[in-house]
Amino acid sequence: MTLIHQKQKMMTDPKHITDLFHNKNYTKAMDLRGEPTEVCVCGCDVFHMLAGFVEGKIAFYFIDAECASCGSMLTLPTPTEEEEEYE
Ligand SMILES: [Zn+2]
Repeated sequence: MTLIHQKQKMMTDPKHITDLFHNKNYTKAMDLRGEPTEVCVCGCDVFHMLAGFVEGKIAFYFIDAECASCGSMLTLPTPTEEEEEYE
């Protein structure tokens, strides 16, 4: 199986929500932290992240995150000053 076929298989296999929260397969996981990204190298754009809420809005989050599909660690992007809203 080629790398492209593996990626397509990972993206099309349906997963139960508990599988996304409790990844038990870290055989393809890598430490990709450094450059902020919105998409993992496996193609997944859903992550496990740590965040806190204040008054119903995300107040803060850690930029270290884990890909929900392959378990790789990566760095999340942060909003630019132009994107932030100050009340
Ligand atoms: Zn991944």
